[in-house]
Amino acid sequence: TVRTRIAPSPTGDPHVGTAYIALFNLCFARAQGGQFVLRIEDTDRARSTDESERMILDSLRWLGLDWDEGPDVGGPFGPYRQSERGDIYVRHARQLLEAGHAFKCYRTSEELDVLREARKAEGLQLALKPSDLALPEEEVARREREGWPYVVRMKVPSDGVCVVQDMLRGAIEVDWAQVDAQILLKSDGMPTYHLANVIDDHLMEISHVIRGEEWINSAPKHQLLYEYFGWDMPVLCHMPLLRNPDRSKLSKRKNPTSINYYRRMGYLPQAVTNYLGRMGWSMPDEREKFSLDEMMANFDIQRVSLGGPVFDLAKLTWLNGVYIREDLDDAALLAALREWAFNEAYVKQILPQVRPRVDTLSEVMPLAGHFFAGLPAIDQDSFTTVQLERETLVRLLQFLVWRLEEVSNWNKESLLVEVKGLASYFELKMKDFLAPVFIAVSGSTASTSVMDAMAILGSDMTRARLRHAID
Ligand code: ATP
Ligand code: GLU
Repeated sequence: TVRTRIAPSPTGDPHVGTAYIALFNLCFARAQGGQFVLRIEDTDRARSTDESERMILDSLRWLGLDWDEGPDVGGPFGPYRQSERGDIYVRHARQLLEAGHAFKCYRTSEELDVLREARKAEGLQLALKPSDLALPEEEVARREREGWPYVVRMKVPSDGVCVVQDMLRGAIEVDWAQVDAQILLKSDGMPTYHLANVIDDHLMEISHVIRGEEWINSAPKHQLLYEYFGWDMPVLCHMPLLRNPDRSKLSKRKNPTSINYYRRMGYLPQAVTNYLGRMGWSMPDEREKFSLDEMMANFDIQRVSLGGPVFDLAKLTWLNGVYIREDLDDAALLAALREWAFNEAYVKQILPQVRPRVDTLSEVMPLAGHFFAGLPAIDQDSFTTVQLERETLVRLLQFLVWRLEEVSNWNKESLLVEVKGLASYFELKMKDFLAPVFIAVSGSTASTSVMDAMAILGSDMTRARLRHAID
């Protein structure tokens, strides 16, 4: 039976790329009566957060990309969170060590730097091979005796060509010389992506691995690991990456990449899913508007074209408008508005902001309208009241965006820490620092408290408005 999976790493915002790959895995599975699995790849303990995992699950579900098995719904192949499967990886790494397919590497990071420098100086490939890493036997014994930290690395051939089959691309050839002796188990005992991914795809009986093109270079290592374990490898399919309109890889510097942004901006989930379905794929009759059910029913992976699909905000916005006009009657539009922002939970957050500032109810909307809006109309003239050089102002807002990207626990307290830190870096009083921020976020010089507004608007809308103000 066909089993596919999406395997996100919960290290940041829920990425539209994740939704795109999830969509194709889901459609492929459904079209063949198979199952679709969600697995959380959180072995990078320093970068993974519960908040990110929650947002990823929440946004995929919002888009209607439901999974049959996963950390929240369970299933026969759990646990579905790699951080809970540690002993499985250690056991398998030991098996590779015993079979001589892997080795303990006691090299320090300083030694590795020296090795890499030497290779660079000689103009050699940078990939480190088992032979490069080897130490004299007595040195290994000494480091082992003294309890030095070590990693487990896989053995890789030093020459020859590795051929990997891809469903869309046919045979992909990679020189083994370019492939390094990949770390499988880190010194803290945690597996790397490569080891955990291969073991889990096997144990979870994944039949088809459909993932982004960025993973092609890992395929030789994965194929070799399957061979070492004596397992059949799933069929591989590397999808073209989404691109910015200038054809570079889609990136948050040029385009919002968080699903939360689209949700907050008031895009409809069915329009976003439909648009992602048009990324490199088309219906047999080429129609632009189709539902998820229609996509599943007509799905044929061979219709994926490899030319990088451009994620064009204007086209998505147009399609979203078509959905609003054609598909939403009054009741559905009202329901969509409620789901979006006109609901008790959201409105209640705004009440404390407006209560002290109004005398009549009719003043509420003019004051708080920005809580129900996207990007304010703003230009250089909007900042005339701010006593800062334009250059400083742009730097200030840009630095703030960068700082805010790192805030994983979005609330007023953590925002204050960032703002205070940055205000003192710019040697500005809080009030002066916040003046341009206020205008960028609320779109006016008279509104509710900017710190509260940022906390309520959330990370994506706040950052989008700050960026918009200096674009
Ligand atoms: P950004 O450049 O916007 O910061 P990123 O490349 O750092 O994005 P990651 O956090 O590395 O994003 O990726 C999150 C997930 O999104 C990964 O699963 C990755 O495969 C996927 N992804 C990132 N960029 C793209 C893209 N252009 N097309 C398809 N999938 C992508
Ligand atoms: N955890 C990887 C990611 O974040 C999964 C890659 C794969 O599908 O193999 O994209």
